[in-house]
Order: sequence, then C-alpha cells, then structure tokens
Amino acid sequence: MTSMRKMLCLILLLTITGCCLASDQPCIDLGGQCQDDSNPCSGSYHSGKCSGSASRRCCTQASDQPCIDLGGQCQDDSNPCSGSYHSGKCSGSASRRCCTQAGDQPCIDFGGNCQYDSNPCSGSYYSGKCSGSANRRCCKPAAVDVDQPCIDLEGRCQDDSNKCSGSYYSGKCTGSANRRCCKKTAVEHDTGDCSDVKIISRDSWGARRPGSTSTIHTPVPDFFIHHTDGGYCTSFSACISQMKGIQNYHMDSRKWADIGYSFLVGEDGKIYEGRGWDKVGAHTSGYNSRGLAASFMGNFATRAPNSAALNAVKKLIQCGISKGKVSQSYALFGHRDVSTSTCPGTALYNVIKTWARFKAHSP
Ligand SMILES: [Zn+2]
Repeated sequence: MTSMRKMLCLILLLTITGCCLASDQPCIDLGGQCQDDSNPCSGSYHSGKCSGSASRRCCTQASDQPCIDLGGQCQDDSNPCSGSYHSGKCSGSASRRCCTQAGDQPCIDFGGNCQYDSNPCSGSYYSGKCSGSANRRCCKPAAVDVDQPCIDLEGRCQDDSNKCSGSYYSGKCTGSANRRCCKKTAVEHDTGDCSDVKIISRDSWGARRPGSTSTIHTPVPDFFIHHTDGGYCTSFSACISQMKGIQNYHMDSRKWADIGYSFLVGEDGKIYEGRGWDKVGAHTSGYNSRGLAASFMGNFATRAPNSAALNAVKKLIQCGISKGKVSQSYALFGHRDVSTSTCPGTALYNVIKTWARFKAHSP
C-alpha cells in the first residue's frame, strides 16, 4: 500500500465515522441507541433520530422515560454533566442518573421539557429555552399552563398590589388570590350595585389592592361632596386614567392605604368605585368613620359639573339609601362645611346647597 492510498483510506474512514456519529447524535441526546427496529427494545422506538435506513431507529429504555421527559439523558454520575443531575429518573443502579444540560434550565423553570420539535407536544413549543440545535425546543404541556385563561385574555398574571395599565380579573391565574390577571387594555365593568347609575368597578379601572382596609358602620348619617381639584374627564379612558393617577398619588405620595374617596364621578356621567360602600375612607378629616364621600373629578371653583355628573351623584346617594348604606335621615355637606378647605369649589357648592337634605342636621 502506498502512502497515498493509506492517506485516502484514512480520509474516507474519518468521513464515514464523522458522518454517522453526527447523525446518530439526536438518539444519543435522547439517551437511546440506534439499532434496526426488528430488534427488541425495552422502551420505545423513535423515528428520525438515527442515520441510515428508515428501519434503523432509536431505542430508549422504558424506565429512562422520566429523564427523557425532563429533556435529559441517563448516564453514570461519575461523568461530567454540563447542567445538573436528577435522581430517580433512570433505570439501573443508583449512580445512573439523569443529566440535564445547563442550557435547558430556562425551559425547566418554565415548566416544560426540551425535546426535538418533530415530537408531539400536548401544549405548545417555545423557542430560545433549550440548548442544542434550533429544532430542539421547549414543550410546555397544556395542563401545566394554568395561567392560560389570563394569557387568553391577553393579560399577564401579577400581584395585584402592582399597577395595571388596564383592568384586573380574578380567577385567571395560579397561585394566591392576590396573583391576578392584568389585561393591558381596560374593559368597562359595572358593579351592578345600582339599577339607575353605573358604578365602574375597581377591577375595571385597574385599582391596586389597598394596603389595608377597615369596615365602616352603615348606614352612615353623613354624606360629603368633594372635588379632586385635578383633571376633568368625559370618557371612560380619560376617567380611568384620572382614577389610576389619583390612587397612585394617594398611596405613593400621601402614604394612604388606598384612594381616599368612597366614590368619584366623571363628566361621562359614571360613578367610579373608590373605597366603596363598606370601607372607612380618607376624605373628610374627623368624619371619615361617620360619612361616605363622592368626589367630582376636576376643579369646580368657577363652573359647576355637567348635569350628567350631578345626576349620577344624586342617584348614587338614593341607591345608597336603598341598599341601607346611607341613613334615610342623612345630611349632605360640602367638604368646606367641616374644614378650612374651599373644596368642593364655589360653583359646585352653590349647586349642592339646593339639593335635598343639605345640612339637614349639624355635622
Ligand atoms: Zn375635599
């Protein structure tokens, strides 16, 4: 044999070896071995993982399946493992353990398994969470994805003490009751409390969970009128943006437990739920435990709110009486009646002076 022929032979051998080892790699990655599928296999055969003819297929051992499901491979744990070893996932001796690759951790943390995406997946495949080739992807089983109702709403699950740009929903997320679904875009929902006036619920405007609450004794004898001395609003989107801003200001700057008022009202003619009917508010110093309060969004020193907003508050008070939250013998006050403040603005104050039960008793 000439040295030239020796060289050619070596090249040919290397080429064949390189070729075949490389294309059996998917089977090896699966912890199996390539063999003709006419041979017995203790576990199951997998197609498309081996080089050669179609009948040369990948046999994995039955009791190695838990490791394969984890996206790992069974080996003696004296061998190096780029990720971590897991016990109880492999057949054989106690030292034969399941090695998952370090690069698969994002998928495992996500609640899925890394596998070749030609395999069936009961849920969905996600890219960028597994090591290896691009078609080795993270399969997250459908059953594990119990946040799916929130995802279907195009929302995300978060602790509801956090801000939400849209609306909050209960019962769409796993975990504690405080872990709730924040949908980016707000959806208008009425509390359904009152038949003739809409009360937009806290969840609808995306209220943060209060730091604390305390229950007020109802029916209350007093009802107070305020203005926010802030921005006006005449649409749902503008009013909920006001609501979020006022709550953030009261909680973050004033360090109150929640938005101060019991209810607010926009010139869109809708009531927006603040602390609601049953909680002590932070609106009228000295009277918070004996009164509920509604605040008109805007500054009403020189002009009165429109009739839609005025009528909504009148109906809110009547609804409160019918629900037993406001005493039938209540008295109505402006904030300025019990403080040095000019609230609720002179123009608005001049209107409420004409309303039923204005100062019906002394504060
Ligand atoms: Zn006030």
